Amino acid sequence: MPLEEETTKRPVWQASTLNALALGHFDATCTAFEALRHGDVGLGSFEGLGGEMVVLNGVAYNGAPDGTARLVAQYEPVSFCMMAPFDHYAPVFLSGPVDSVDGLVAVLEQRREVTKGRNALHSCIATGTVSHLRVRSVDRFSRPYPRLSDATEGQHVFERERIDGTIVGFRVPGYLSGVGLPGWHFHFIDEHRRFGGHVIAFGQASLACQITRHDAYELSLPEDRSFSELSLASDLVEETLRAEGMTPPRTR
Ligand SMILES: [Zn+2]
Repeated sequence: MPLEEETTKRPVWQASTLNALALGHFDATCTAFEALRHGDVGLGSFEGLGGEMVVLNGVAYNGAPDGTARLVAQYEPVSFCMMAPFDHYAPVFLSGPVDSVDGLVAVLEQRREVTKGRNALHSCIATGTVSHLRVRSVDRFSRPYPRLSDATEGQHVFERERIDGTIVGFRVPGYLSGVGLPGWHFHFIDEHRRFGGHVIAFGQASLACQITRHDAYELSLPEDRSFSELSLASDLVEETLRAEGMTPPRTR
């Protein structure tokens, strides 16, 4: 295969696995600097959790547990993330008006990029105005870490009535269940980069969207002893979807 073809695959690079995070492996897998070497859009979390990571245009932000957003320093340890080189030349399409997260998912699932590549991974950037936005962020924990589902019980929920910003999303196909979380997963950062978090719900939204298809997947595993002792083969998807405030996807 010619080199040019290989490089058009735009691989998703992931640090750690979803099941490791679900079981409370909140230890550092990489730094923000390393994550940013692998893409300019991304989602993730930090050592001990301590917020929601969203990467847009090569800049990492933390939707922090106090409801603010701030820049992530390059040395900050990341427990889990998905990063990808976004195709900024991908077609722009309007998803609005949609009236819910499920509505946005339905629009994205009908796009040719997804229907023609159901077993690939996808990222999306959706920019516009959202009403009744509800996001959450999670506290920073120290060892011994709880399971993710226990950690998110004390999550902090923040709401905004009308807000401009960008939703960054990743879609994982069902067969990668346990390595990733099947379906779409969205984080938000506002236009002033001062408010963000994991998207739980929104009302009316008018969004300009782009989708990038990713036909390669690179996994970077934690090297510490606690990771090697985890039983990662269990089916923790339902537990994790509940912890993330998400409904089971139709993409499985
Ligand atoms: Zn999230």
